[in-house]
Amino acid sequence: MLRAPYLTAKLQGFGTTIFAEMSALAGATESINLGQGFPDTDGPREVLDAAIAAINDGANQYPPGTGVAVLRHAVAHHQQRFYGLVYDPDREVLITAGATEALAGALLGLLDTGDEVVLFEPMYDSYQACIALAGAVARPVTLRPPDYRPDIDALRAAITPKTKVLLINSPHNPTGMVLDAEDRQAIADLVLEFELIVICDEVYEHLTFDDARHVPLATLFAMRERTLVISSGGKTFNTTGWKIGWICGPAELVAAARTAKQFLTYVNGGPFQPAIAVGLELGDDYFTAMAADLQAKRDRLVPGLEAAGLTVYPSRGTYFVTADIRGVRPDGDGMAYCRELPHSHGVVAIPNEVFYANKPEGRHLVRFAFCKRPEVLDEAVARLTGRAR
Ligand code: PMP
Ligand code: GLN
Repeated sequence: MLRAPYLTAKLQGFGTTIFAEMSALAGATESINLGQGFPDTDGPREVLDAAIAAINDGANQYPPGTGVAVLRHAVAHHQQRFYGLVYDPDREVLITAGATEALAGALLGLLDTGDEVVLFEPMYDSYQACIALAGAVARPVTLRPPDYRPDIDALRAAITPKTKVLLINSPHNPTGMVLDAEDRQAIADLVLEFELIVICDEVYEHLTFDDARHVPLATLFAMRERTLVISSGGKTFNTTGWKIGWICGPAELVAAARTAKQFLTYVNGGPFQPAIAVGLELGDDYFTAMAADLQAKRDRLVPGLEAAGLTVYPSRGTYFVTADIRGVRPDGDGMAYCRELPHSHGVVAIPNEVFYANKPEGRHLVRFAFCKRPEVLDEAVARLTGRAR
């Protein structure tokens, strides 16, 4: 007899990710997929051509364990160019299979059984799973609408003698919150007071709107030496399927992440690595135009969601807006709403509940992605407001 349950106790309750479920539902119902965050247009031609050229030039075998040199140098240069952060491309930069593997490598490489990680909720869904796989404990601090700014007293209260890591995501998925200067300083003060290691998930670093600007926590006094910065080319260059990510940080912390990472994928994406290097070296106009384009898409979708009866909270970055559904669904059951919406209106969204450890906090909230062509957003709004279908 095989011994059930088959799934390790560490992953009980994690099931299938909501992104897989909702994208499958979008396909089955031919709905507009405003769920999983991926753009429906290609990124810069130079980047695509560089990948094709790399394949034709034979970059089709395992790249070096830390990533190809040209990309490690481009990542280091990018950190210096945009933020003034200096990293040694050989010892302080590691290329990973997307930010997802960077997070897994960092968490598995740093955490021991019983260690605690303080982080915000709602949170990107892989955080809790990786913390659980490490045998560690997640201590979520809830961000609340309308602005989702962190409650610094609550953050302080969540820190215990067992807290080893503070995991910060800004610009923040799913809320679109971007940490401001005051929040960054308050967080940095806590990090120094309690001598924490910081993991910063900055995958949406270039996707900020209005007057919001991404400033890495690592730029604050004494933060660089205790911070692993994680990002990825997926969001910045519309190449989410390429899965090229990276970690920057002091050599000893990067080495801890690398030790775990080498047993996850070892390496990935040989021909895509030099192509992302080309992207990172594009001129400033590329980065500003991309953010402006997304901001226009946000501004196209949000009034439509409001016209459909939803209460939409401000998004200052990322691909996403969060909406309260209680105006159209008084029971506030976001999971049921998202499962019904493809059938009733031909639109897919993500129930924010999945991003919370404390599920009731997010029950009535739903996330819509706006990284889609204008006509697709218009059609989604038409469907949601009952002007189509
Ligand atoms: N962190 C956050 C906050 C994300 O939204 C995503 C996007 N899926 C990731 C990490 C993972 O990035 P990647 O696709 O590069 O693995
Ligand atoms: N980051 C994207 C999102 O939040 C996609 C995540 C995924 O497919 N794992 O929608």
